[in-house]
Amino acid sequence: MGKLKGKYAIITGGGRGIGESIVHRFLDDGIAGIAVLEYDQNLTEEMVSRLGERGSKVVSIQCDVSNDKDVENAVAHAMEQFGTVDILVNNAGITRDSMFHKMTDDAWDAVINVNLKGAYYLCKHVVPIMRKNESGKIVNISSISAFGNVGQANYAASKAGLIGFSKTLAKEGGPKNINVNCVAPGYIETDMYRAVPEHIIEEHIKGTPLRRLGKPHEIASVVSFLSSDDASFLSGQCISVSGAATT
Ligand code: NDP
Repeated sequence: MGKLKGKYAIITGGGRGIGESIVHRFLDDGIAGIAVLEYDQNLTEEMVSRLGERGSKVVSIQCDVSNDKDVENAVAHAMEQFGTVDILVNNAGITRDSMFHKMTDDAWDAVINVNLKGAYYLCKHVVPIMRKNESGKIVNISSISAFGNVGQANYAASKAGLIGFSKTLAKEGGPKNINVNCVAPGYIETDMYRAVPEHIIEEHIKGTPLRRLGKPHEIASVVSFLSSDDASFLSGQCISVSGAATT
C-alpha cells in the first residue's frame, strides 16, 4: 500500500501489545523508519534487525517516557538516525487500578506520569520539529475509560487529559499543518488486559455490541490511517475503536 512511504515515526511502548502491532502495521504501510521507545526493551537486537529486513530502518531506544531527560535523549537519537520526525504515536501506558477511596498517591502519580506527562514530554520535544517542518501527525492513545470507569480514577483522568491535550494541540498546530488526534480503544487483548479477572471479561464482552474483545491490529489500522495523508483534514478528534462499547 505504501501510504506511509518516506515517513519517519516515533512510537512509545512499541515493543509489545498495541504498540508492537502499530510498528508492524507501519512497516506494512511502507514507512521509511521507526524509532521504537521502550522501557524494558523487549525487542532484542535480532528482532530489530529482522524488522529492518522489511525495508525500513528500525531502531529500539530505551526510554522511560515519564523522565524528561530520557525523552529528550530519545528524540535526539531518533533525529540523528532519521533527520526528522513526521509521526509521533504516544502509546505507552500503565494501569494501577483500585477504587478511588483506596487509591494511593503513588498509584495516582505513576499513572499520570506515564500516561499523560509522558505524552507531554514527547510532544514538548517533537512539536518544535514538526512546527519547523510545517508538517506532522500526532496520535495519542487514550481509552474509552476516559469517559469514566469504576476502579480507574487515575487512569481515566490521564486518558481524559490526553483528549483535552490533543484537541488543544490540534488547534495550535493546525496553522502549521500538524494533525493531532486520539484513538480510544475499548477492551483489547494484550498483557494489560490479561490482568482483568474472567468474570469481568465476560461482562466486558456482554457490554460490547460486537460481542468480543478487540485485537491489537484493529487499533493499529486506525492509528496508521490517522498517521497518513488519507486523514489529512482530520484533526482534533477522539475516535473510539471499541466494537461500540462504552464504559
Ligand atoms: P501493554 O501493557 O501490553 O503495553 C504497554 C506498553 O507501554 C509497553 O510497551 C511498555 O513498555 C510501555 N510502557 C509502560 N511504561 C512505560 C514507561 N514508563 N516508559 C516507556 N514505555 C512504557 O499495554 P497495551 O498494549 O494494552 O496498551 C497500549 C496503550 O493502549 C496504553 O496507552 C493503554 O492505556 C491503551 N489502552 C489499552 C487497552 C486494552 O484493553 N489493552 C484499552 C484502552 C487503552 P515495556 O514493555 O518496555 O515495559
